[in-house]
Amino acid sequence: MKLVFASNNANKIKEIQQLVPDYIQIVSLQDIGCTEDIPETAETIEGNAILKANYITTNYGLNCFADDSGLEVDALNGAPGVYSARYAGEPKDDSKNIDKLLLNLEKQSNRKANFKTVICLNYNGKQTLFTGIINGKIIDERIGTNGFGYDPIFVADGMTQTFAELSMEEKSGISHRGIAVKQLVEFLRNGN
Ligand code: IMP
Repeated sequence: MKLVFASNNANKIKEIQQLVPDYIQIVSLQDIGCTEDIPETAETIEGNAILKANYITTNYGLNCFADDSGLEVDALNGAPGVYSARYAGEPKDDSKNIDKLLLNLEKQSNRKANFKTVICLNYNGKQTLFTGIINGKIIDERIGTNGFGYDPIFVADGMTQTFAELSMEEKSGISHRGIAVKQLVEFLRNGN
């Protein structure tokens, strides 16, 4: 079964590819010759996932899914949220984003945060959303070198290591993205 995954992020493609069963063949944007910038102008994580999936279905007439994710910090009223990738401004810079977040949380004792992923699937004329959330906390300094984004400062509830200390397999097993992808896979397995 071929499905377009509306992403060009090699990390995410690798992460998702290993989560889906063999019978699902993920087709990238490159594979379908889509080189334009897909708009991500919505004000919510859900909205951006829908925008991206609809762009491919409308312009290419293909079944597809798109994901959008972000880090929501309780003490910052859910920021950076939908703006996680460019929290410290343009151009996108993971390290500057972490610096800004740690500065904004400097005197903050409430370190609770969650990662959230929404996947929008457009399949045979029907749209379905899947949401994955992992709760945890933001620590004071970077630990670990794996992963990307805010991984070095996020520790999931019940764990002692940051996401950046986990292998890709370990992270996928518990992550927001892993949870949302599992729901997507389950949905497709049920022959929807
Ligand atoms: P995206 O929608 O998956 O591209 O995520 C947007 C931004 O949220 C990323 O650029 C990261 O800053 C942050 N983010 C999303 N997922 C993760 C993750 O698994 N680890 C660390 N940061 C993440």
